[in-house]
Amino acid sequence: MKRVYNFSAGPAVLPQEVLEEAQEHLLSYKDSGMSILESSHRGKEYSAIHEEGIANITQLLDVPDDYAVLFLQGGATTQFSMVPMNLLGDRRVADYTNSGAWASKAIHGAQSIGRVNVCADTSKDRPARVPEISELNLTPQATYLHITSNETISGAQWKYFPEPSVPLVADMSSDILSKPIDVTSFGLIYAGAQKNLGPAGVTLVIIRKDLARRVGDEVPEIFRYKTHIDNNSLYNTPPCFSIYLVTLVTRWLLKQGGLEEVQKRNEDKALRLYRAIDKSSFFEGTALKDYRSDMNVTFNLSTEDLEQTFVQEASQHDLKGLKGHRSVGGVRASIYNAFPLEGVETLTHFMKEFEAT
Ligand SMILES: *Cc1c(COP(=O)(O)O)cnc(C)c1O
Repeated sequence: MKRVYNFSAGPAVLPQEVLEEAQEHLLSYKDSGMSILESSHRGKEYSAIHEEGIANITQLLDVPDDYAVLFLQGGATTQFSMVPMNLLGDRRVADYTNSGAWASKAIHGAQSIGRVNVCADTSKDRPARVPEISELNLTPQATYLHITSNETISGAQWKYFPEPSVPLVADMSSDILSKPIDVTSFGLIYAGAQKNLGPAGVTLVIIRKDLARRVGDEVPEIFRYKTHIDNNSLYNTPPCFSIYLVTLVTRWLLKQGGLEEVQKRNEDKALRLYRAIDKSSFFEGTALKDYRSDMNVTFNLSTEDLEQTFVQEASQHDLKGLKGHRSVGGVRASIYNAFPLEGVETLTHFMKEFEAT
């Protein structure tokens, strides 16, 4: 069996040992005689997986007791509406930074619920970047400030976070668990799993519990964080198998030595790729240097034709998924936690050869 280097932005590469473990237990989980795919979400096998997943995330991110770790559904996209449904209320304003495609969608989601102030907009900046904290035009008494910690499409990432007097809410879909963060600086963090956490189908939410009490009666129960906190993410049937894989991935991260170690590896991988880009005038980075993402490395060649040839030939060398997002083009190498260093070395080697040819 051949495995390729998968640079896809999401769903994305998973650690091979996680896939192997899932495969080994696919037909009969432990001694249950049935697959986790077939098991009750209230049974003892699944319950242990569910609790371990929450415990592993709590340990990896040092999540304090006054926060809840939730497994929800509907992707990060559902959070674009669920956050304002729960936190915004009908007469108040939330501040949103617009740093690119995903932030724009978060803003769009919130605008259908309540009032939004776009407090900084770098979405059209080229090279791509995220706002500087000094640029934020914050509303006094906003209900919260929303940021997108890593713009998966443009490859621009917040390197440090604002510290507003109101709760900070972050879409961390594409850089969650890639490095240590101080959870206490955030009111709410959410992330679709399919980039850095596991497969599609589950969304991680970490929320300060008191914020979940703000919700109004008009919000249906299923869309209230409070409901999911009160029911330990078992209000309805959770995506058991996706959560199982998240549990295996978080176990793997702990085995790597935790997030400080994971960050070192991620920075090393990113540095090698950015060095390859900067050493040559043939490739040009898409994001401004200070904001370059450690997760999604974006770059251009001089023409679209050349980019297309690059992506095609890379694919023939088993370097897959390098085509940039259809909205921006170019090349994008997504190198999440599970992406191996050897894949980065193979790509930098290929870049050198392609340029020479
Ligand atoms: C992929 C992505 C999303 C969308 O996630 P879905 O699970 O498809 O809803 C949102 N925000 C960011 C930053 C992403 O990378």
